[in-house]
Amino acid sequence: MYGINQCKINYLKYYYMKSKINAFMDLVKERNGQEPEFLQAVQEVADATIPYIVKQDIYHGKNLLLRMVEPERAITFRVPWVDDKGEIQVNRGYRIQMNSAIGPYKGGLRFHPTVNMSILKFLAFEQVFKNSLTTLPMGGGKGGSDFDPKGKSDNEIMRFCHSFMSELFRHIGPNTDVPAGDIGVGGREIGFLFGMYKKLRNEFTGVLTGKGESWGGSLIRPEATGYGTVYFAESMLETRGDSIKGKTVTVSGSGNVAQFAAEKILQLGGTVLTLSDSSGYVYDEDGIDEAKLDFVMELKNVKRGRISEYVKKYPKAKFVKGKTPWEIKCDVAMPCATQNELHGDDAKILLKNGCMCVSEGANMPSTIEAVHTFQEAKILYAPGKASNAGGVATSGLEMSQNSLRLKWTREEVDSKLKEIMSDIHDKCIEYGTDKDGYIDYVKGANIAGFVKVADAMLAQGIV
Ligand code: NDP
Repeated sequence: MYGINQCKINYLKYYYMKSKINAFMDLVKERNGQEPEFLQAVQEVADATIPYIVKQDIYHGKNLLLRMVEPERAITFRVPWVDDKGEIQVNRGYRIQMNSAIGPYKGGLRFHPTVNMSILKFLAFEQVFKNSLTTLPMGGGKGGSDFDPKGKSDNEIMRFCHSFMSELFRHIGPNTDVPAGDIGVGGREIGFLFGMYKKLRNEFTGVLTGKGESWGGSLIRPEATGYGTVYFAESMLETRGDSIKGKTVTVSGSGNVAQFAAEKILQLGGTVLTLSDSSGYVYDEDGIDEAKLDFVMELKNVKRGRISEYVKKYPKAKFVKGKTPWEIKCDVAMPCATQNELHGDDAKILLKNGCMCVSEGANMPSTIEAVHTFQEAKILYAPGKASNAGGVATSGLEMSQNSLRLKWTREEVDSKLKEIMSDIHDKCIEYGTDKDGYIDYVKGANIAGFVKVADAMLAQGIV
């Protein structure tokens, strides 16, 4: 009898919560119906935080989540530039200043033809929670352009970056908004952007992170996102008495995050089986060792080539055109390329092949269906906002060094990065452990990220 009543109560509770979440999402869809990636990111946060919010009296009647989904400011601007043939090109520039409750807006710039309002709002929204998790005082923002750096000469990249900054400079500053890199924006682009900012403002400040080592950059910043993603995987595996050592790992992407994730996996004794780019993936059964990874870094960062060239150098490996690497059997998967690159079917194949841990280096690489598949199977699964937070955390450390006019050693920055990743992991355990002991990292990361921002917004009133 008691059993039946309890079932009924649980059922009613479930539908009560579902109706609250649906009502919230209906409001968000009404205003942002044309922005699928943004809605996907909001849905994940709503699913995780609304059941928590309804139990906290202090948050009642404050519409905190509804305020958080509305950017404080969204700027779009024209970016005209002249190509090498002397022809005038026009791109669209953006900066989304999402939330500044706990610090200046902070988040990368993405240069990629797919960039639009939906992509940047999803990234800016994720960034708010991620930055909150790092324990550092940083709000959330994101920006970029639909400019495609592929195939452009260094001079074209410079002219584009200079034009982009000639508008962006009036909206940013070391105490207002501090951009960094993301897809298509690495050390070269940050250099050109910083040069124009410095000229226009006539000041040398920490307004961008990811700067070069000799002009204000932090050691370990280029490595930080990839290293942090692996440190987070190591912490997750430790909860089950395990480690990366001896594990096979599939990595997607071959850019900044993927390269340094691969480097750290090798240092910790794992085997990297794959890397990819938007044309397909390479699978090296013998493992991509240090020498092979050096080849990839040279290929991607200096020659700006394609990952398929790997098999010309290492003919035992194979290149699989137009596919992602999730069909390869592995113990651990690290998606480090882009959003929605790992679908529900991929998740099922990973599980079937015995994958026990997924640590996201990219932002929102797994679709909602894939996330649910991992959660239902109760494997170790970390959403990017927790596992890839090492990059922005080290950007925060770069800002601190710029303000102090000091430079920390490699060891100092790396040990701070490790500590921050371990703190984020602890927070996920605190807010995400279910009654049966399973750690729901999605729930943990979203609630922990929400609480800090929500408390600051409550303290600051309705602004
Ligand atoms: P890079 O530009 O250095 O590399 C991106 C990689 O992903 C390239 O290999 C690229 O291939 C591939 N890629 C891009 N778009 C697609 C696509 N549509 N389909 C398949 N592959 C694609 O970027 P990062 O390594 O910096 O960023 C990778 C991910 O990590 C992004 O989600 C980013 O938001 C996230 N991230 C990055 C941080 C950083 O510090 N850089 C911090 C936190 C998260 P191709 O060359 O063919 O385009």
